[in-house]
Amino acid sequence: MHEFSIALNIVKLTEENAKKANANKILAIDIEVGKFSGVVNDALRFAMESATKETMLEHAQINLIDKEAWAICEECHHKFSIENFADVCPECHSVRYTITQGKELRVKSIEIE
Ligand SMILES: [Zn+2]
Repeated sequence: MHEFSIALNIVKLTEENAKKANANKILAIDIEVGKFSGVVNDALRFAMESATKETMLEHAQINLIDKEAWAICEECHHKFSIENFADVCPECHSVRYTITQGKELRVKSIEIE
């Protein structure tokens, strides 16, 4: 499962950072999930629940934050928010555009104790 290896990675990186900061435990973690990151929120949440067992994140509150996607039109350079890959540029109806935001998945912040 794709989301499970992502969850394990998040746990590993977050623990490393928390240890560097001399934390005893991690209280909360905010994860930004881009609309086009390829990650399913529910699957990631489920994966995080098992990946965090017996780690510093075991009792942490896990916040998944949906991040909207943006694109820039290659024809008219209009910037627009995009819902799915079938969308066209709202200005010129071109289908040629580049996704500029929304593919990322990242840990935005952690709260430690
Ligand atoms: Zn356009």
